[in-house]
Amino acid sequence: MSAEETAAQGSEANGPYYSLRVAEIIEETADAKSIVLDVPAEFAERFAYESGQFLSFRVEVAGHRLVRCYSLASAPRLDSAHKVTIKRVVDGRASNWMNDEVSVGDVLEVMPPSGIFLLQDRDTPLVLFSGGSGITPCISILKTALETTSRPIKLLYANRDDRSIIFKDELNAMLSANSDRLEIVHRLDDVHGFCDAALIVQQVGPRKDADFYICGPGPFMDVVESGLGSLSIPSDRIHIERFESPDTPGAEDSAPIEEAEGQIVTISLDGQDTEIVVGEGETILAAARRVGLEPPFACEEAYCGCCMAKLVEGEVEMLMNDGGIDQRQIDEGWILTCQGVVKGKVRVEYPD
Ligand SMILES: Cc1cc2nc3c(=O)[nH]c(=O)nc-3n(C[C@H](O)[C@H](O)[C@H](O)COP(=O)(O)OP(=O)(O)OC[C@H]3O[C@@H](n4cnc5c(N)ncnc54)[C@H](O)[C@@H]3O)c2cc1C
Repeated sequence: MSAEETAAQGSEANGPYYSLRVAEIIEETADAKSIVLDVPAEFAERFAYESGQFLSFRVEVAGHRLVRCYSLASAPRLDSAHKVTIKRVVDGRASNWMNDEVSVGDVLEVMPPSGIFLLQDRDTPLVLFSGGSGITPCISILKTALETTSRPIKLLYANRDDRSIIFKDELNAMLSANSDRLEIVHRLDDVHGFCDAALIVQQVGPRKDADFYICGPGPFMDVVESGLGSLSIPSDRIHIERFESPDTPGAEDSAPIEEAEGQIVTISLDGQDTEIVVGEGETILAAARRVGLEPPFACEEAYCGCCMAKLVEGEVEMLMNDGGIDQRQIDEGWILTCQGVVKGKVRVEYPD
């Protein structure tokens, strides 16, 4: 199928990726845009999602293929289309490409939704802590909780300044319509300074029995976790979504492995086969990065699915699967290479 035909159809599956057409682009702030996707009816079931989940996109930037996760800011059953919001990261490759290069009508490669940062079925209050682009899964959870529950909800939303607040109008509208049970606290670095643990404790106030959701930059999340920690909130009440970006691929953060002790694994990546030695207990992803290959990955904790590859020969045990791959994908032969330890000679193929 030609590129034009694929673009015209906008729905072909390529390995774990589906080609979805960009239906709309929304300028949210000076450094964040939303991309609304057109999910054709035949993929509606595959792209069904829960508030808090994310999509993984495979993009090509300056000749490099990158896979990046973006949380769904839309809410299932409330919003008619899937919407992700991408904030520029300084010198970030995919985020700037998504902001600068994507236009309405383009076709993007997207993996079906995944993730476990989900609204729990409880009656307790909800307290959401968001920083910057960390609002994306939280606004989806917020919308769904307002629509489907009567839970009291508090959102603390930290930003650099007023102009950086994503979804400001939408949040204001939600507040006006639900002022009896929704509270929104905006914290702006240029006015209030950074949040600290004491502030978090103060903002929780009497809602110690709440479900807590945290998403934002690392230092913001650390402060929130520290504040909640001082209140001895049980860990099953604290839900965390990390937006970590992969480091530049390379060997520097992988433990050295004695090559002679490992198994031979053939890795097919970008149309090229490479034979590598995977050490005892080492994952395929770690070994591939150790030898200088640049396979896609993000979370390395079995929940994002970015590092998926197809096992075409041999046996691999996945150490864990935290929702990064579903049964259908496993049945098709896909594995999470960040969790895959090999049992003998193996061949894996990353999607073309
Ligand atoms: C589950 C999940 C959900 C997410 N949801 C969202 C969302 O809804 N919205 C959103 O905006 N983001 C989200 N993210 C983050 C997103 O996936 C990307 O990590 C983010 O957009 C940055 O990617 P990038 O390619 O632009 O940056 P990268 O190119 O990976 O760069 C990241 C950082 O590394 C630095 N860097 C890059 N190359 C080098 C180099 N050679 N040497 C030194 N430093 C370098 C850059 O300066 C930058 O600060 C999510 C992440 C996860 C895991």
